[in-house]
Amino acid sequence: MAKLDIIQFACRSDNYGVLIHDEPAGVTAAIDAPDAEPILAGLAEKGWRLTHLLITHHHADHTAGNLQLKEATGCTVIGPKAEANRIPGIDLGVGEGDIIAFGEFEIRVIETPGHTIGHVTYCIPAASVAFVGDTLFAMGCGRIFEGNAKVMWASLNKLMALPPETEIYCGHEYTAANAAFALTIDPENAQLQKRAKNVSEQRSKDLATLPTRIDLELETNPFLRPHVAAIRQRLGMQHDPDWRVFAEIRERKNKA
Ligand code: ZN
Ligand code: FE
Repeated sequence: MAKLDIIQFACRSDNYGVLIHDEPAGVTAAIDAPDAEPILAGLAEKGWRLTHLLITHHHADHTAGNLQLKEATGCTVIGPKAEANRIPGIDLGVGEGDIIAFGEFEIRVIETPGHTIGHVTYCIPAASVAFVGDTLFAMGCGRIFEGNAKVMWASLNKLMALPPETEIYCGHEYTAANAAFALTIDPENAQLQKRAKNVSEQRSKDLATLPTRIDLELETNPFLRPHVAAIRQRLGMQHDPDWRVFAEIRERKNKA
């Protein structure tokens, strides 16, 4: 099976930059462009040439480096077609079901609106990996800026349906704060307690807590667990649909 090289590095205050590379084909993609400098440094260190820039959504902390990277490398800038007018330097707009050829790999586009209205996730099934931007975080999910709770819940459902072993790369290192909040919603979850402890150890050493995995999130991320009886009981929402329970958890996080 073909091997996809992936590196992740800190950008700005709490963003992540990610580079993926298919050696035999000589192609390299950056996922989002929080800042051009660390991405160019990562490319130089590896000796990789940037061919693709894959943008998840239009926010400046994901697109600020677009024009500088395009100018420096001649890469093709790809992003959600629904936000094309808000993505600097975009060459190709993509949407649900589109497939981007990347060396020996296929990158599949999944629309995951809610944080922004055109937000997309890039999934590479053959490498068991997905780049979710600001839709899903370790033990958290993105703030709902442009969609509504129902739209965001539908997007999270698409990610929950990915194969459980799928590695998930997220836009931000928000894990410690998310863990603290998750424990207020799902305090008796032993796996969550254990994970929260691991996370505080990792963060005290300044280590990245990402990527995560779908199976781990299904067990420990309260935003993906509105069906769980103990959580419903705690919220006094035994008879509400899942999306309403999700909306209440999101509301509480906004106020936390
Ligand atoms: Zn964002
Ligand atoms: Fe962001």
